[in-house]
Amino acid sequence: MKILVVNAGSSSLKYQLIDMETEKVLAKGGCERIGIRGSLLKAKGNGGEKVFNRDMPDHKVAIELVLSALQDKDIGVIKSMKEIDAVGHRMVASGEYFNKTTLVTEEVMKTLEEKTFELAPLHNPAAATGVRACMEVMPGTPMALVFDTSFHATMPEKAYLYGIDYDDYKKYGVRKYGFHGTSHKFVSSEAAKYLGKDISELKIVTCHLGNGSSISAVDGGKCVDTSMGFTPLAGILMGTRSGDIDASAVEFLARKKGMTHAEIIEYLNKKCGVAGISGVSSDFRDLLAGEKKGNKRCSLALEMFAYQTKKYVGAYAAAMGGLDCIVFTAGIGENTPTVREEVCEGLKFLGVKFNKRANKANGGRSGGKICEISAKNSKVKVLIIPTNEELVIARETAELL
Ligand code: ADP
Repeated sequence: MKILVVNAGSSSLKYQLIDMETEKVLAKGGCERIGIRGSLLKAKGNGGEKVFNRDMPDHKVAIELVLSALQDKDIGVIKSMKEIDAVGHRMVASGEYFNKTTLVTEEVMKTLEEKTFELAPLHNPAAATGVRACMEVMPGTPMALVFDTSFHATMPEKAYLYGIDYDDYKKYGVRKYGFHGTSHKFVSSEAAKYLGKDISELKIVTCHLGNGSSISAVDGGKCVDTSMGFTPLAGILMGTRSGDIDASAVEFLARKKGMTHAEIIEYLNKKCGVAGISGVSSDFRDLLAGEKKGNKRCSLALEMFAYQTKKYVGAYAAAMGGLDCIVFTAGIGENTPTVREEVCEGLKFLGVKFNKRANKANGGRSGGKICEISAKNSKVKVLIIPTNEELVIARETAELL
């Protein structure tokens, strides 16, 4: 079975074609600048790479181009579109309307469009455009929506509710939903496999630390709490997002800066986080370079990031009543030894014995492999696990079929 995984943004469309028998990526690539002049598709397949400079006024043309790249005479990996058994679409927010991977039907699309767009205005409309385009270009091919939120659907009420009027929660659906679910699911199940244990026996904290960062408590394979909230703005401070902040401070700041509601939310999403603290960059490579040169605000941003991550690990160990494993994943989690060290060094009291050498040795992206960075006799295992959200989307789609 071959599954096409599609991740559509407002002006981009990333894809992978995965063979489910071997779980190998047959082809992958991405369209950039859809709807903007100078659009192009960078495609890999069959051991080669090609750039298609084509006008892509919309996502329909983009998906048509992807399909022709998949059948290209040089880098093509299939002979006909019919070889694609299904399409799995990445979707960010589900609200309470979908709590699992869902087969695409006209009715499902209507619910998605009418009910969830306001929950993720930057992501869901763009992704839905990608689904609509595929429905048009590939009629008859089964498609699934795989939500970033579904892995978190197992959270108990006490974890996902905010301390607001319960009737307002019911009426408006204001609660914690969580994000990066496919990643948390993937790395927690990989951790169990690596440790040779049944996931039902394990208490794991998964730290997905990337441009957007979230931390989850995974007890017995089920998510019981997560750091992102109603939107991906919550939790620890991120590249440009503030993370948790007192709601009254938001109103105060908006008043002082003369900003509207929309403007202050945009500010908290785009101008804060480590970029705001450092005044230098949202990228950890720049922050590390800044710290080396003695930039104190870069050091402060790095310190805050590790401190907040550590607090979540501690809180989630308490929430689960124990801890067997900490997983680091995503751009920062996989590539920044100093962050991992600062998080773990303060956790000896929980039974974490850190292996600094192994941590430093795995300074670069760990080549797609799992790395153990705790000491052999550490009660709590610490692992670096490269995430693979596309594979989870493909697996979920295959399972649904
Ligand atoms: P996204 O959330 O956009 O998917 P990623 O998980 O790819 O992002 O993480 C991107 C971030 O990872 C970058 O902004 C950067 O801060 C960090 N990063 C990537 N590579 C490195 C590296 N070699 N060293 C330190 N940080 C890195």
